[in-house]
Parts: sequence; structure tokens; C-alpha cells
Amino acid sequence: MVERVDVTIIGGGPAGAAASIILKKRHPDKTVLLVEASHYENWRVGETLSPDAGKAFRELDIWDSFQKNEPLPTLGTCAAWESEEIHENEFLFHPEGKGWHLNRVQFDQWMADEAVKKGATLLTDTRYVRHQRSSDQQFKLTLQNKAGEFQVETNLVIDASGRSSGFLKHSQGKKQAYDRLSGSIGFFKADSSPSEISTYTLVEAMEDGWWYSAVLPDQQVVVAYMTDADILKKKNLKEISSFCGMLEQTKYTKLRVENDVPLKPLAILSAASLMSDPVCGNGWLAVGDAVSTFDPLSSQGIYKAIRSGMFGAYAISDFFNGDDSGFAKYERFIKEEYNEYLSTRSQFYNMVKRWPESEFWLRRQGH
Ligand SMILES: Cc1cc2nc3c(=O)[nH]c(=O)nc-3n(C[C@H](O)[C@H](O)[C@H](O)COP(=O)(O)OP(=O)(O)OC[C@H]3O[C@@H](n4cnc5c(N)ncnc54)[C@H](O)[C@@H]3O)c2cc1C
Repeated sequence: MVERVDVTIIGGGPAGAAASIILKKRHPDKTVLLVEASHYENWRVGETLSPDAGKAFRELDIWDSFQKNEPLPTLGTCAAWESEEIHENEFLFHPEGKGWHLNRVQFDQWMADEAVKKGATLLTDTRYVRHQRSSDQQFKLTLQNKAGEFQVETNLVIDASGRSSGFLKHSQGKKQAYDRLSGSIGFFKADSSPSEISTYTLVEAMEDGWWYSAVLPDQQVVVAYMTDADILKKKNLKEISSFCGMLEQTKYTKLRVENDVPLKPLAILSAASLMSDPVCGNGWLAVGDAVSTFDPLSSQGIYKAIRSGMFGAYAISDFFNGDDSGFAKYERFIKEEYNEYLSTRSQFYNMVKRWPESEFWLRRQGH
């Protein structure tokens, strides 16, 4: 049996959930299908939520529900960046006053549940596989769950499938990469001795990369070493002994970890800055990491994903209302946002002059 829906959203992360919520808020009569490959069983990366998310949650009408989850507040970022000295960058002057440290699996599942409460249909354990276009411009999507493949027909598609950008790949789109940043990521028991900076995200620059760490709910701490993929491989940073050896060389990050026994195996993930080309096409658009990715240094990825999910949904909403200029406006917004991001990223990496011979820093300083 082939199902028919108005909009299919591929990917139930923050971007896909935000898009579903806006569409159902604005067009309760339209059918919105949210397709998610997992059932939110495995851990996910990205733990610091920017205070800007507060405004988005109010617009999505999920602020009260977010507060009920009692998220762990964070007061800002501490960074040993230009020098060995720690500098605090507080959220003090932000209207929200604080950001949050999240358990990402619980957060993503909560957002998807909120989309369901607003009327979206969520299919978990269901993966987008490929699509075709029929003569009347309908998309015929092939989806797969444990029982096998099945088809869904849909007028419009939002690709919110994260870095994998499944739909873009099948649409012959491509990605422009601005670097090869990768992370070796570990979860440990957090050191329990009180520290002034335990509520802050901590960033510590090293000769060929940088560490970030954040204390999470349940007394866990996420610790990640970020460097280029080739350096990560050369230093064998997927091995816990090499990882902990590097951690031992830090001045501040090592103090956050109770012992060197990881709670889960280390994960190696790409964190490269990428931009999709195209951003959208006839009847579809990409949102969140599927359209562009930011360096984790920005701590903006989740908020940016939610915002682009909302803006993508506004473009589709305009289309439902007979105005098809929303797609072009959306594309312009994404490109401007990305150019601004690249310029800020360059300013941050250019601040670090401590290792004039280091390939990692030279690559980011225009050499
Ligand atoms: C090392 C690292 C650290 C980071 N730290 C931070 C941080 O501290 N703060 C921050 O704000 N951001 C951080 N980020 C970025 C942040 O995690 C992402 O920007 C954010 O998760 C993007 O949300 P999204 O909804 O676009 O994509 P995702 O969160 O990737 O969600 C995509 C969803 O699509 C699903 N999916 C994928 N393929 C398919 C398919 N074929 N069919 C159906 N479903 C599919 C996936 O299961 C997933 O649920 C970090 C990223 C990295 C790599």
C-alpha cells in the first residue's frame, strides 16, 4: 500500500522536529510525516545548547515542556585559547542568562515527541532509502523498516537527515568542505570535587588541536579532542591509551575526569564545516546539518539546526499559501548565515599564535 502525505521530513533530530512543529502549528490540516532511522537508542553528540534556543522554544510553544525536563544550566564557556590563561565568556548579558548541558538522546526524543503532540506522525526505526519523481511532480519515497521496504508519496520533502544528507545524495547534490575537522569523543565519570568552572563548557587549545568538555546530567563528562582527520589517525586517537596520554598533557581538561576508564567506547566523528549545494530544489529543501555544518567550537549547531528547521518550514508554509518565493528567501538566508559563520570561525582560529609551526593552526590561518 502506498501512503500519501503532504510533507515528509527525513530525520527526527532537532531540525526535523522543529520543522514538523511549525508546519503543524501553521497548517493543522496538512499531513506531516517525520521519518527517523533510529528509535533514539544510541548516544548522540552535541551537548551544549546555546541560550538562543530559549527564544526558539517559545516560538515553537515548547518552552514550558523544556523547563519541565529540568535541563542542566551552563553559565558560558571558559577557554584557554590565545594563552594558557583561562578566559570566561559568560552568557551574563544574554537575555536568557544561561544555556544548557544536555543528554542529547533524551533531548532529541523529547523534541520528536513534541512534534507528535502537535499532530505530526513519527515513524521510528524507518530509514529513507531513495526516491523517484512522478510525472505530476510527486515524490515517491522508498522507506525501509524491519519488515522491509515500502513507498510513500509526498508533495514536499524536507531533508533533515544530518551530516549524511541522504536525500541530497540521491538528488545528485554535493557538499563543499572547508576543513577536515574530526573528533575523538569519550564519556567519563565527572570529577566530583567542586570547581568554579564545572558549570561551564571548557575549551583548551593544544599544539595540534583543541579539547572541549562539558559536565552533563548524571555526573558524566563528555571530553573530546578535535583535530584534523589525518592528525587524529597519526596520533592513534581512537585508542583509549593514546587519548588518555594526550588528556594527561592538558592543564585544565584532565581535572574534569574522575578516572581514565571511559563509560562507552571512544567514538570518532567528523566535525568538518560543510555546505550543501544546492540548498533546495523544486519541492524540497534541506535543513540543519543536512544543509550546513558549523565547527563545534561555536556551540551553535543545535540552535542553528532548530532555526533552519523553522525557517525551512516557513518557506513551505508560504508555498501552501500560494507564495513560492519562500524557497529563494530561505536559500539566501542559509548562504548569508554560512558566510557570516566562516568569517567568525576564521577570526577565532586566527587568535591562536602560540604554535607558529603547527600544521593544524596554519591550515586555519590561511596558509
Ligand atoms: C563532535 C561534535 C560536537 C558537537 N557539539 C555541539 C555542541 O556542543 N553544541 C551544539 O549546539 N552543537 C554541537 N554539535 C553539532 C550538533 O550536534 C548538530 O549541529 C545537530 O545535531 C544538528 O541537528 P540536525 O537535526 O540537523 O541533525 P542530527 O542531529 O544529526 O539529526 C539527524 C537525524 O536524522 C536521522 N537520519 C539520518 N539518516 C536518515 C535516513 N536515511 N532516514 C531517516 N532518518 C535518518 C538520524 O538518525 C538523526 O536522528 C557538535 C557536533 C559534533 C560532530
